[in-house]
Amino acid sequence: MQAQAASIPRRGFILILSSPSGAGKTTLTRAVAADPKWGLDLSISVTTRQRRPSEIDGKHYNFIDRETFDGYRASENLLEWAEVHGNFYGTPRKPVEKVLGAGRDMIFDIDYQGTRQVRAKLTEDVVTVFILPPSLAELRHRLERRAEDSPDTIEKRLANARIEIQRWSEYDYVIVNDDLQDAFRSLEGILTAERLKRTRRTGLTDFVDGLLAEPDLI
Ligand code: ADP
Ligand code: 5GP
Repeated sequence: MQAQAASIPRRGFILILSSPSGAGKTTLTRAVAADPKWGLDLSISVTTRQRRPSEIDGKHYNFIDRETFDGYRASENLLEWAEVHGNFYGTPRKPVEKVLGAGRDMIFDIDYQGTRQVRAKLTEDVVTVFILPPSLAELRHRLERRAEDSPDTIEKRLANARIEIQRWSEYDYVIVNDDLQDAFRSLEGILTAERLKRTRRTGLTDFVDGLLAEPDLI
């Protein structure tokens, strides 16, 4: 079924993952983007946030200063942008146009404000997934275990978590990330189903016409 789906032309889509900080969206996004089976392009955002010790400039984000960010914004180089936890983040527009134009899919790890902007611009070609933590206590443990943010930053992110969690109902799919493998399998299920969606499969008419043009077997 998957081989057949892949061979029939279709429009690409954007898969957006959002969650409160620490719920696991970066882990899930990176895991699915790194699996060649899915052939997904990962959107690399620009941000004014300070780089974490484990992050690589150009791989996890493009780390830029506020002036550069404002320049990108003014020249409409960003598909969407938002201020999150006191820093600015944005999605460069050109790579997205290139990937979608080639009929491929792209994965975004962005917040609910950015999700609203992308949905308003590319409605039919956006699939949104909200990642919930199994509990707020576990959310705190994960942020503390990640140990990449200062205690102040962790408190700020936890304070924002309740507001972010309330956006869950704006999303197409919701995954509770308790067991990571289960959450990953759920994400793969979403991708499989969305790739089979009739309305994006522009090659289906030709495929079915070809089927019907085959000579009768009986
Ligand atoms: P986010 O991008 O949503 O802020 P991360 O992907 O950075 O979250 O995950 C936060 C921390 O929790 C990381 O240290 C990650 O390894 C860990 N983590 C992610 N998913 C799970 C899970 N299902 N169970 C336990 N730890 C997890
Ligand atoms: P972090 O600082 O933990 O990497 O990300 C903080 C928040 O910013 C997360 O909710 C993440 O999804 C969001 N984010 C990251 N990149 C972008 C982006 O390009 N646009 C928007 N709107 N949010 C982003």
